[in-house]
Amino acid sequence: ANSILSSYGTTIFTVMSKLAQDHGAVNLGQGFPEGLEPPAVLKAAAEAAEAGPHQYPPMTGIPALRQAIVAHDRHFYGLDLDPEAEVMVTSGATEALADCLFGLIEPGDEVVLIEPLYDSYLPIIRRAGGVPRMVRVEPPHWTLPRDDLAAAFSDKTKLILLNSPMNPSAKVFDDDELAFIADLVIRHDAYAVCDEVYEHLVFDGRRHVPLMTLPGMRERCVRIGSAGKTFSVTSWKVGYVVAAPALLAPIAKTHQFLTFTTPTCLQSAVAFGLSQPPEVLDHLAMDMAARRDRLADGLRGIGFEVMPSAGTYFLTADIRGVGFNGTDADFCHHITVEAGVTAVPFSAFYQDRAAAPSHYARFCFAKLDSALDEAVARLGRHF
Ligand code: PMP
Ligand code: GLN
Repeated sequence: ANSILSSYGTTIFTVMSKLAQDHGAVNLGQGFPEGLEPPAVLKAAAEAAEAGPHQYPPMTGIPALRQAIVAHDRHFYGLDLDPEAEVMVTSGATEALADCLFGLIEPGDEVVLIEPLYDSYLPIIRRAGGVPRMVRVEPPHWTLPRDDLAAAFSDKTKLILLNSPMNPSAKVFDDDELAFIADLVIRHDAYAVCDEVYEHLVFDGRRHVPLMTLPGMRERCVRIGSAGKTFSVTSWKVGYVVAAPALLAPIAKTHQFLTFTTPTCLQSAVAFGLSQPPEVLDHLAMDMAARRDRLADGLRGIGFEVMPSAGTYFLTADIRGVGFNGTDADFCHHITVEAGVTAVPFSAFYQDRAAAPSHYARFCFAKLDSALDEAVARLGRHF
């Protein structure tokens, strides 16, 4: 067996969703939205599937989608991208991440990561021969520890992988933190791979700021987006990467050997979605913030301490508030089986679970009000 990947079990999202299904639990574990798929975008996919074409689309994505991504990034971020040389469509952000990491990392290169972190990052970095350099942000404010971050950079640093808005902490990096990161990237002649899949899920009047828009960052950043998140269709696996031509080239090489393309009808539908009035995307954040508040209020009413959530689909609750004394993994198993509600143990987002906080659970609030209310009612009856 491969000694790098064999140390990883089945992803926590699959494990918890299966457990939820087996026990008829309200699934607030795995992060996927409910009831938010835009009907017009679904219709565009159906029409495109009917109309074809059904053979291999261009390797970097259909022109209509690459142009729509350019227009999107110009409207929201003032970026000026070349749809031929600086944009590539991928099969989800997951593939985009793998393309970037396999394309840019050489064995022995150091990669700076901020923990807690999304679960696909470390296995791919390790498999690419990269050496992870971890920096931890701590609850409840998740402030960037600047000295630690500066110390994690060295002359071996190839890139930093930055996820903002950040899963699972629901942190959104502020302008000063981004400027600090940009300065380190420049000083160490490194790159930044920016996982921005939650770019349109930023709450309370905040705006998402891509690191790529900071001075000196245009040539050093890769920006990753996901239509799964932007249009609430996580099964579609349509993602994209934008980067300067020299940076995109090795990423595109990986893509051509990994998946080569992404289904045309879904690319067409996402192109249609992105060509709608941009306000549609602002509504997503407003709708989601209301769901966040609904779940947070409900959980607080039961006695949980709930941490702030500035973005993403997620909020984190301290399980000690309801008198639970076991680990987060015990808790998530317990509430699934005994209360009929599923969450994800927060420690799953750490390299070393034994050194992770063990008293937090991550709840996904991107659900119908009825599901959120049912989850709160069930937990309320139990605790
Ligand atoms: N990055 C982060 C931070 C995520 O939470 C997810 C999953 N939702 C992904 C990447 C993967 O996105 P996709 O479904 O487009 O592959
Ligand atoms: N990103 C989602 C989450 O954090 C799940 C994605 C997956 O299941 N791989 O819950």
